[in-house]
Order: sequence, then structure tokens, then C-alpha cells
Amino acid sequence: MSEKASVLECRDLTRTFVDGQLTVKVLSGITLRVERGERIAIVGSSGSGKSTLLHCLGGLDRATSGEVLIDGHNLQRMSEKARGLLRNQALGFVYQFHHLLPEFTALENVAMPLLIGNHPVPEARQRAAEMLSRVGLEHRIGHKPGELSGGERQRAAVARALVNHPRCVLADEPTGNLDQKTARQVYGLMLELNRDLQTSFIVVTHDMALAESMDRVLLLSDGLLNGQPVPEVSISGPAGFSSSR
Ligand code: ADP
Ligand code: MG
Repeated sequence: MSEKASVLECRDLTRTFVDGQLTVKVLSGITLRVERGERIAIVGSSGSGKSTLLHCLGGLDRATSGEVLIDGHNLQRMSEKARGLLRNQALGFVYQFHHLLPEFTALENVAMPLLIGNHPVPEARQRAAEMLSRVGLEHRIGHKPGELSGGERQRAAVARALVNHPRCVLADEPTGNLDQKTARQVYGLMLELNRDLQTSFIVVTHDMALAESMDRVLLLSDGLLNGQPVPEVSISGPAGFSSSR
């Protein structure tokens, strides 16, 4: 009974896509529990269902069966509106493409989740400025995404994901578009924020060196998550730098 509520949890999650006559079972029964501050890497070949899993965990897609609990709340039992609210309060998202709104400044983009959550504008702007400063972009707050480098845009996207102090950040190949050096900086930043804010992270990545620096590496294959250590053969070079692409 005294069991601590997990930050994010799924039980026997399945997701099947039906397209005309064709039925594709992408997730066939995933059970996962993410603790506070825990860092989990999800790896797996292209098309194995990594993005589908993150979408279901984040309430952006509905599971075909099974349960998803965010902060102890069962998504399946909530209205669309309540799910949106919970998602806004408890989760942050980072994607491969930054998805910053081009017509808004970095500050406005980062303030957006707070404004959506009905925080007053001055508070939202101040917290956005603080978060941008944490990711090293204090000199770029007035710039629009088109005026930022790839790494700066992704750092802004990380700031936007964290500005609400979410319980968990779901990141889908967040550095897939960056060169290795910039990718390391962005990951270093995420790990720093994880330590400082006790935010949990679930990161989908092809970067084995990064995956190995997390608390757990889970392999998604044939619709199931396998917590076994990833075979060493997929790591190349003494520094563990590799890309499976
Ligand atoms: P990954 O992120 O691991 O590359 P995805 O989760 O994007 O894989 O996709 C897994 C499988 O599910 C793929 O075969 C893909 O075509 C299929 N799929 C994903 N989304 C949809 C959808 N909305 N409708 C039909 N099939 C989909
Ligand atoms: Mg994907």
C-alpha cells in the first residue's frame, strides 16, 4: 500500500493500426514503470514502434488496450480535456525536429506551455527567460527559430519541454538532426536538468553511447520491450561512440 506512485507507467499496453484490410500490431503488451528522476533509453530498429510507444505514453495517441498512468492518473478513464491538462502539467516533449513556432521568439516559444496552462504572462515570461538561461540561450531570447543554429533550436526545445517542471520528459530522437558534438551538448544539458530538477527522462535514440549513459536501456523489438543489456556488438570504438544508422 505504501508503494510510491510512479511518474509514468503502462501495463500491458497494445497498439494496433487498422488500415483497410490490413491490421498491424505494433505494440503487443508493454509494461513499464518510470520512477522519479529515472533516465530510460529506448532503442530499436526503425519501424519497431518507438514513436508509437512514446505517443501512447504521452497521451498523444490512444492505446488499443492496456493502461497508461501519468502521475498515478489513468489516461484511459479521463476525458480528452482532462488528458490535455494532465499532459500539459506533467509531461514535456522533445522531438527530432524542434517544432518551435517560427513566428514567435525563443522566449515566446518557451513561455507557451505556461501560457497554455493559464499562468500569468509576466510569470510565464520570467520563467521562460530563466529556463533559456539554464540552457545557455540568455543572449538569444529575442531571436526567432530561423535566426538560431540547429543546436540552439534544440536547446530551446529542451527549455520549452522543461519550463513547466514536468515529472517526465519524453524525447523522440531529440538529437537525430544534430552533429555529434552538438548532440553531446544537448544530452549533457538534459542530464544536468535531470540531476537538478529530478525530472525523469525517456529518450528514444540511435546513439548507443548516450543510451548506455542512462539508468536503463530497453530494446523495443517485435512489439515488446526487453530490458536486457543491449548487445555489446552494437557499440563501436573505444569511446563507445557509434551510430546505428
Ligand atoms: P519507430 O519510431 O520505431 O521508427 P513507429 O512507431 O513510427 O516506429 O512506427 C511503427 C509501425 O507503426 C510502422 O510500421 C508504422 O508504419 C506504423 N504506424 C505508425 N503510426 C501509424 C498510423 N498512424 N497508422 C498506421 N500505421 C502506423
Ligand atoms: Mg520514430
